[in-house]
Amino acid sequence: MSNGLPKKRIALFGSTGSIGRQALEVIDANQDAFSAEILTAQSNDDLLIKQALHFKPDIVVIGDEKKYGVVKEALAKHPIKVFAGEKALEEVASMDSYDMMLAAIVGFAGLRPTLCAIENGKAIALANKETLVVAGDIVMKKAIDRRAPILPVDSEHSAIFQCLVGETRNRIEKIILTASGGPFLGKKPNFLVNVKRDHALQHPNWSMGNKITIDSATLMNKGLEMIEAKWLFNLQPDQVRVVIHPQSIIHSMIQFEDGSIKSQMGLPDMKLPIQYAMSFPRRLPNNFPRYDFRKPATLSFEEPDTKTFRNLTLATEALNKGGNLPCVLNAANEIAVFAFLRNRIGFLDMTDLVERTMQQMPYIEQPTLEEYFDSDGEARNFAASLTKI
Ligand code: NAD
Ligand code: MG
Repeated sequence: MSNGLPKKRIALFGSTGSIGRQALEVIDANQDAFSAEILTAQSNDDLLIKQALHFKPDIVVIGDEKKYGVVKEALAKHPIKVFAGEKALEEVASMDSYDMMLAAIVGFAGLRPTLCAIENGKAIALANKETLVVAGDIVMKKAIDRRAPILPVDSEHSAIFQCLVGETRNRIEKIILTASGGPFLGKKPNFLVNVKRDHALQHPNWSMGNKITIDSATLMNKGLEMIEAKWLFNLQPDQVRVVIHPQSIIHSMIQFEDGSIKSQMGLPDMKLPIQYAMSFPRRLPNNFPRYDFRKPATLSFEEPDTKTFRNLTLATEALNKGGNLPCVLNAANEIAVFAFLRNRIGFLDMTDLVERTMQQMPYIEQPTLEEYFDSDGEARNFAASLTKI
């Protein structure tokens, strides 16, 4: 399948996560098209070592510096460079030994290395939506300046991106992001107040990392995705809509100015958008299961219940007001999810915590990058103080 093209050298930032592991499956199945040149993980040294022994990358980075010795020792017989620590992520992202970064670190932590890759003119397959939520204006401007293409991995945004092929001159009227509704679709606050971590971690359609699984249960994930879409596709807030589609077959839609609606469909499987971002503009054959229209099935749609899932309202406010508000929302949400996963706060407390943090933090209309970092830090401290009552 190489078509005579050189292999694309991929740097997987967050290789041990749900997206990272699935990306490695795609690379494994298409070894003449891709190689894994850089692998990074925060703390899972065992898996990072296994991946390195299999894929023989040029470089691995372990975030947790205490684990450097173990990783170094395990890979000593191989020509693999080993680095550790947060700064190493940025240094490695600034190197020239790769062609495309798969940005698959979770949360705000993915922002700095991704900015280094963009500065370096590298193509980005972007899974880490928080990067655009926090500093979308700066990230997109830098990407244009440095001619670094940003290819969405998030399934909804991949769907929009796929629908845009051949439409460069045509204006988008609006985009319609589909949401599964998560495990608590149709539930009300009297139910949600008692929801515990393990229940919230059961997503009906997707198997993902813990943070995004909780975000899907609270609908914050869809809120973050509205902001992500605004930046990726250069939209006004009122051009971004959300519809609940519990079957997750339609991955999102675009409505054009003539009223025509295009959608991208398929069984829910993140390997498809990962593969598309890596191989764009080509499509690579695979034998992932196909959706079969002959089997009886209903595709249904409904309005999101924003009274119950107020995160969507908070995210819409952040989308509309812009400035540092999306950054503050994201920081408070990361703290809230972290606290919920440790059983320190309840399911509905997550939204209260985000709301109170948004009310408390000073608004900055056009933050610099440093101001985004400061807003993130201050919002985290304030949100964390609320979890210690
Ligand atoms: P995950 O928790 O499974 O994996 C996260 C990865 O990031 C791991 O490799 C981990 O080692 C690394 N990491 C965590 N904290 C870090 C830190 N502080 N510094 C450096 N590295 C760190 O997460 P995931 O589900 O793979 O999601 C990754 C990103 O992709 C998220 O931003 C998520 O929103 C987005 N995304 C995921 C899916 C999905 O299906 N999993 C779908 C769409 C978008
Ligand atoms: Mg998504």
